Amino acid sequence: MSVLLVLEESGGKIKRTSWEALAAAQRLEPTESITAVVIGAQTEALAAEAAAKPVGKVVRVEHPLLAQYTADGFCAALQQLLQNQDATKWVVVFPHTYQVRDYAPALACRMGQVLIGDVVAINDGPTFVRQLMQGRLNGSYRHSGNRPCFVSVQAGAFRPDATIVGPNSSTGREPAPITTFTPTIDPAQIRTRPGEPFRASEQTLDLGSAQRIVSVGRGIKEAQNLPIVQELATALGAELAASRPICDNGWLPMERQVGSSGQTVAPRLYLAVGISGAIQHLVGMKGSQCIVAINKDPDAPIFEVADYGIVGDLFEVVPALTDAVKAAKQ
Ligand SMILES: Cc1cc2nc3c(=O)[nH]c(=O)nc-3n(C[C@H](O)[C@H](O)[C@H](O)COP(=O)(O)OP(=O)(O)OC[C@H]3O[C@@H](n4cnc5c(N)ncnc54)[C@H](O)[C@@H]3O)c2cc1C
Repeated sequence: MSVLLVLEESGGKIKRTSWEALAAAQRLEPTESITAVVIGAQTEALAAEAAAKPVGKVVRVEHPLLAQYTADGFCAALQQLLQNQDATKWVVVFPHTYQVRDYAPALACRMGQVLIGDVVAINDGPTFVRQLMQGRLNGSYRHSGNRPCFVSVQAGAFRPDATIVGPNSSTGREPAPITTFTPTIDPAQIRTRPGEPFRASEQTLDLGSAQRIVSVGRGIKEAQNLPIVQELATALGAELAASRPICDNGWLPMERQVGSSGQTVAPRLYLAVGISGAIQHLVGMKGSQCIVAINKDPDAPIFEVADYGIVGDLFEVVPALTDAVKAAKQ
């Protein structure tokens, strides 16, 4: 078995989640059996960045029609690459990004396979672990053996600093060898025309450096109930943060969202109020020093990462806690 690691870039640099996928790839095979792939119209710098990492080889998949991402272009290019290299030996590993979610299932389907998406752990076998039912259950998936096998890796599940350093690493001597593959792509194959790339709005709030955070989730039920948690945050001298549904609803600004598509935080105290603990939230806060969770559901997954858990109704617990904090400060 060999691993084809498909890297993703943003602004001319390989994204951090791609290096997390490299850490996952190393759970499958040693460095020399990992081939990293960069895709685009001019990939020289990306390939050099990849070659400095612990991978066995780097392949530049280059074509003018790959200058901007399209699902059709990426599917066609990767399918040809796989078929060109004996598709039956590969496990193809992607970071689980929006882009990958867009094209990887189609690529897998074209090759008569499925994508094992959103993998949070890899066990011996290999078996791939995915979370089900908002993280309440873990499912273990084993591939039929009929390759290629396609796997995408959840953001935050594997630590890029845990990659095993090989002779080709940035601290070692030799960069990995680089080759170029030029797929045949006809403009008529590309059915979509890419627009302006999405640019995230500039963040004015740096939750990452906050020492105390009170974070609120859908358990708060309505926007007009937010002052209950704001009061606790103020009493604790904490920043107010939120799970994604709160920000999606516009109840708090996006810059206060914690999680895989929000900010990553590591405060001394993270108080999660009415948050279930979905993996996309956990990856943004599980590095906190002390996690306190308030949730009325004793089986909520947030309790698995919490140092202290309060099973109860937040509308009773939070005001009582706020009063206690204020009293303690007097
Ligand atoms: C691609 C992608 C990216 C994502 N990125 C993020 C992200 O960055 N951040 C993020 O947070 N999510 C993200 N999500 C969404 C994530 O999957 C969850 O849907 C979300 O985290 C759930 O938010 P929640 O815990 O507030 O809501 P729910 O899952 O609805 O949980 C609400 C919790 O409140 C509890 N509750 C209800 N009433 C009370 C009460 N009166 N007192 C106490 N507890 C109560 C319930 O028991 C429940 O556990 C992403 C999802 C996807 C697909």
